[in-house]
Amino acid sequence: MAFESLSGRLQNVFSKLRGKGKVSEEDVNEAMREVRLALLEADVNFKVVKDFVSKVKEKSIGKEVMNSFTPGMVIIDIVNKELTELMGGSQAKLAKSNKPPTVIMMAGLQGAGKTTTSAKLAKLLQKGNHRPLLVAADIYRPAAIKQLQVLGEQIKAPVFSLGDQTSPVEIARQAVQHAKDNGLDYVIIDTAGRLHIDEELMEELKQIHSVVSPDEVLLVVDAMTGQDAVNVADSFNKQLALTGVVLTKLDGDSRGGAALSVKAVTGCPIKFAALGEKIDALEPFHPERMASRILG
Ligand code: GDP
Repeated sequence: MAFESLSGRLQNVFSKLRGKGKVSEEDVNEAMREVRLALLEADVNFKVVKDFVSKVKEKSIGKEVMNSFTPGMVIIDIVNKELTELMGGSQAKLAKSNKPPTVIMMAGLQGAGKTTTSAKLAKLLQKGNHRPLLVAADIYRPAAIKQLQVLGEQIKAPVFSLGDQTSPVEIARQAVQHAKDNGLDYVIIDTAGRLHIDEELMEELKQIHSVVSPDEVLLVVDAMTGQDAVNVADSFNKQLALTGVVLTKLDGDSRGGAALSVKAVTGCPIKFAALGEKIDALEPFHPERMASRILG
């Protein structure tokens, strides 16, 4: 599971603090040195680490905290709150259009989990009594269309496809119309990914964006790739104005750097977390729950 090593290290630091009746400024400094190292080793962006540690220090070193009955616990609580803030504070909800359908564009590099996540999101929406339409607009990756169709069948969600000879922009346009005509209230567009970000990919995404005016542009990133995921998110965001990020593969042994840095670096909230290959392994992302999980 993700965060295991970070979690273990932070718990170590804090069990030392918790054991102390009185906490000195030097104790706090020592604990923060260890927290800093643990975060860096978890592949958290170094600037994010620096800001984080200085905020926690500022709040921890002071009469009120140090003279409290349980200074160790108070400091752990400060860290918990700052970790939650770092990941966005409160849960960032999926947008809902006043004029259905709500259009969601899924973007990301190939292999990040975009197609699977599109279907998982459809399933999640179905559970909330919505009627999502999946749209096969990744016409370049062999088998992407078929993959979406198979997933659609599995969850009994309609899949809109015009094969691989029509442009993705046209597919997206017609799909939104199809949803309107058929009373489907969410449209999830699975766009093409590439191995690397390139101009052609961005151009196509921008065109789809301008034609369908999505309510959400969700970037799917692989949490296992750490700071690379954050860099990818930063580049996409500069070109496409993302509304949120989906972190996938959090069931793997990701060190956690992407989850802890992406909001601070890009300003984009993490809206969902994917924790497995199964179709129902997608959850709304709760910063406070994730922080508590990390701190154990
Ligand atoms: P795309 O190229 O971005 O559309 O990626 P796919 O949706 O085809 O996913 C690539 C691979 O990652 C597939 O084998 C998925 O089953 C796998 N995958 C996607 N999300 C997760 C996840 O949260 N956890 C795990 N373990 N695997 C995932």
